[in-house]
Amino acid sequence: MNAMTDMGITTLNELHRQFAQQRSAFALQMNPDATVRIDRLKRIISMTEKYGDTIATAISQDFGNRARAEAYMAELLPVINGARHNIKHLRSWMKPRKVPVSMQLQPARASLIPQPLGVVGIVAPWNYAYQLILLPVIGAFAAGNRVMVKPSELLPTYCALLKKIVAEYFSEEEFAVITGDAEIGKIFSTLPFDHLIFTGSTAVGRIVAEAAGKNLTPLTLELGGKSPVIVDASADLQKVATKIVWGKLFNAGQTCIAPDYALVPRAKIPAFVEAMRTSALKMFPSIAANPDYTSIVNQRHYQRLQSLLHDATGQGATLVTAAAGDASRAAKERKIPLTIVLGVTEQMQIMRDEIFGPLLPILPYDDLQQAIDYVNAHDRPLALYWLGESTANRDRVLANTISGGVTVNDCLMHAALEELPFGGVGPAGMGSYHGEVGFRHLSQDKPIFFQSRFSGTSMMYPPYGAKFERILGLIKKYL
Ligand code: NAD
Repeated sequence: MNAMTDMGITTLNELHRQFAQQRSAFALQMNPDATVRIDRLKRIISMTEKYGDTIATAISQDFGNRARAEAYMAELLPVINGARHNIKHLRSWMKPRKVPVSMQLQPARASLIPQPLGVVGIVAPWNYAYQLILLPVIGAFAAGNRVMVKPSELLPTYCALLKKIVAEYFSEEEFAVITGDAEIGKIFSTLPFDHLIFTGSTAVGRIVAEAAGKNLTPLTLELGGKSPVIVDASADLQKVATKIVWGKLFNAGQTCIAPDYALVPRAKIPAFVEAMRTSALKMFPSIAANPDYTSIVNQRHYQRLQSLLHDATGQGATLVTAAAGDASRAAKERKIPLTIVLGVTEQMQIMRDEIFGPLLPILPYDDLQQAIDYVNAHDRPLALYWLGESTANRDRVLANTISGGVTVNDCLMHAALEELPFGGVGPAGMGSYHGEVGFRHLSQDKPIFFQSRFSGTSMMYPPYGAKFERILGLIKKYL
């Protein structure tokens, strides 16, 4: 059997049957109460606690090697934390919220009542294959919806496991796992979901948006792109290098919000490169046979990264690597050391594509405005990092750049806080989730106007005439 059949492919009949089944189940329970929702969230916690190690092992098997600590930090703990946060706040989020009524419409009342949407479809990538499925599921469950998810076919062992463990904790009518390749993903995204969340590349995001548009399915797009890191002239280079190395090498750079390239004051580049190299070697004295260092997910992506380097050096770029140990074994394990790329130009592919690997081009700047202008001349990034000591420079960058999110003086961390919305802007995506924002995003915050029996609005009904003009005069006077 090949990898695809190992994970079990959902047939088209099955896909349509499960969708119809979820819709009917939703129609029978259109507004599950807090107890039902909390029970679903608790089952996510139990499943994650029971199978955490098994999930980490399955993902690692599909990657070749995926650091266990990274699975805990980026897959399992965020899911447990996210579910707990939703459980804690759910009852208060579900409460109707009173809306003030303007004087001319009093004594009516108005409220916003959050209501579930129905069946939410979730298409996920491979790089954080548990978190990027379960965090959207948590938001959808908290909001009272049912979910159908389509994980990435690049992780067949993990897909088979996910299908099995989800079936142990949930009925298909609550949580269905649809397995298969991009073709199934394509058909999946044509289903008339009540909301569709797609996490993946910008290129596929465009195709998904078109498919969803045909049904007018509301869409959240969590996409990728090139996230800059700006090293300020005021930065302590040793300190910031450690943070950037950690952010870049976490999951071997296969992170949507990984720092993609660094903008560094020209005069500081040699010292910064050296600080990066020594920091990387301190964290990873070797990469071959080092279980802490994650492999590139497959040969295609490994080759893609090698081609980026080949193209850059062919056009005059130079490389500095933090390599130590057995290079040929590292290559066999599809591991690439931190590779700093100097002398890059806009023509090089590495400055056009999202890198999604442990390669870091460095661009010099002479004046902070140049760095800001560079960021603004390109697609709005999913994340932006600024590291330094000068609060004036920090505020200038924050005020004059637009990105999905920002971490100041670290990397990746804005995605870790449940209370902060996570999402992109422009080509990096639309819509956000995590915490209360996820709950609201996947609810219909239904506006309701409760008319009072003492309402005066009927005085403005036709036939319009002197009475209408008198009331209009009063409204104009007191508004
Ligand atoms: P991808 O776009 O190739 O695939 C994502 C998912 O879409 C997979 O499940 C795939 O089977 C499915 N798919 C493929 N073609 C499809 C189609 N035509 N219609 C519907 N579904 C289709 O992305 P990937 O390689 O799995 O992930 C890497 C990308 O995801 C990077 O660009 C990264 O930045 C981005 N990403 C974004 C976030 C975020 O939160 N913004 C998080 C992780 C990854």
